[in-house]
Amino acid sequence: MPSNPQNDFPEAFEICQKFDISEEQMREIVHRLTKEINMGLAKDTHPRAVVKCFITYVQDLPTGKERGKYLALDLGGTNFRVLLVTLKSESEINIESKSYAISKDLMEGPGKNLFDFIAECLASYCKEMHIEKENLPLGFTFSFPLQQVGINKGIMITWTKGFKCDGVVGKNVVELLQDAINRRGDLKVRIVAILNDTTGTLMSCAFANRNCRIGLIVGTGTNACYVEKTSNTEMFEGYQTSNKPNMIVNCEMGAFGDNGVLDFVRTSYDRAVDKQSINPKRQTFEKCISGMYLGELVRHVVVELMGKGLLFKGLNSQAIQEMWRFNTSYISDIESDAVGVHRQASMVMDQLGIRTNVEKDLECLRYICQTVSTRSAKLTSCALVCLINKMNSKDCSVGIDGGVYRYHPHYHRLLTENMNMLLKGSAKFELIVSEDGSGRGAALIAAVSA
Ligand code: ADP
Ligand code: MG
Repeated sequence: MPSNPQNDFPEAFEICQKFDISEEQMREIVHRLTKEINMGLAKDTHPRAVVKCFITYVQDLPTGKERGKYLALDLGGTNFRVLLVTLKSESEINIESKSYAISKDLMEGPGKNLFDFIAECLASYCKEMHIEKENLPLGFTFSFPLQQVGINKGIMITWTKGFKCDGVVGKNVVELLQDAINRRGDLKVRIVAILNDTTGTLMSCAFANRNCRIGLIVGTGTNACYVEKTSNTEMFEGYQTSNKPNMIVNCEMGAFGDNGVLDFVRTSYDRAVDKQSINPKRQTFEKCISGMYLGELVRHVVVELMGKGLLFKGLNSQAIQEMWRFNTSYISDIESDAVGVHRQASMVMDQLGIRTNVEKDLECLRYICQTVSTRSAKLTSCALVCLINKMNSKDCSVGIDGGVYRYHPHYHRLLTENMNMLLKGSAKFELIVSEDGSGRGAALIAAVSA
């Protein structure tokens, strides 16, 4: 039986209302983001812009004719990966990869240790694959804010997503890694390109879908890139005279709102999560959208209701009281239950030390999850519509990667519905899961820029 939140759990309803974003507010968000993007693109406003819109130096989309063998590194998500990508034909791409866990010590320690570790993983992988003697080009997917000054040169702006390594901000990351590789002396690898996962995702999708114009990540973090007219990318030296019409722009959209322009839709729960994060007052948009934070937002609401004796009455656990313990994957689990079923919800709470079968409580929990994930999807829809309008596109594909988009049972539908509501038929679009943007995309960029 579907619930009626207002009647069944009025206090939860009242809290969740604060997360609700109206159509009018969504249009205002699109408007504000457009303004921020224009500030990032223009030379005179770029230095103080919040949404930086970094140029990527990627001006060519794949033709489908790219071939060859490439190495790729993927740093900036849950796992660090080394990949060997072989572009054999338009339909045959072979990817082999290995993931390595990055310890908390490495994430928060000196940058040198991190880059030595990356080089060590690369070396051991190359030996395993018997390619250590080959002089292979490498594409480095580095998914943190980076001011690129060339296809293989980028200055680190700031760490995000739980990383905080000393001695990296302000430095050329390609050089830091190349130095670490050279220090070892057992590898012949050339870093030919550095890119963001959004750019890799766009390229990877565009290899098969020539109409792809946007790359979107909704994973641990969130960000997007799109195809801009070179003549609008004022931060590019030759923007007025370039013979290439397009430039992929990495919006660094996660920072949208860091100047307060999203405060009109943020809640006290957003502020609490921001405060406890490793990067307070930064990545405001990301903190409302991405996997690193959604579960924690749900947990805050749950804990407040429990504290007032309005949810899971008489029950408590250390786990539910602990920061970051409510994984975003739990939201997907809970929302996967059919209407009136609470099997997953019950299992999730059990994992958190709260054993209950009270239907009304579990239904309330689902309602809280829906509220938080729906708001995430609405905000992402605003971003996509903003980019579609910015490009004046009438029909394009969006390549998407990230655990939230891939695994949340309703995220794709929520995006589609909300985008259609905002676009009112003015443009068509297709949302496509982009396979392995960080690996295949890196190889493609290495190929087109070689
Ligand atoms: P990234 O490369 O940004 O880490 P991934 O595509 O690997 O992105 O996604 C991992 C993130 O996705 C995790 O940090 C988590 O927040 C989120 N995630 C993982 N599983 C699920 C799930 N079942 N439902 C929703 N989000 C998930
Ligand atoms: Mg990733």
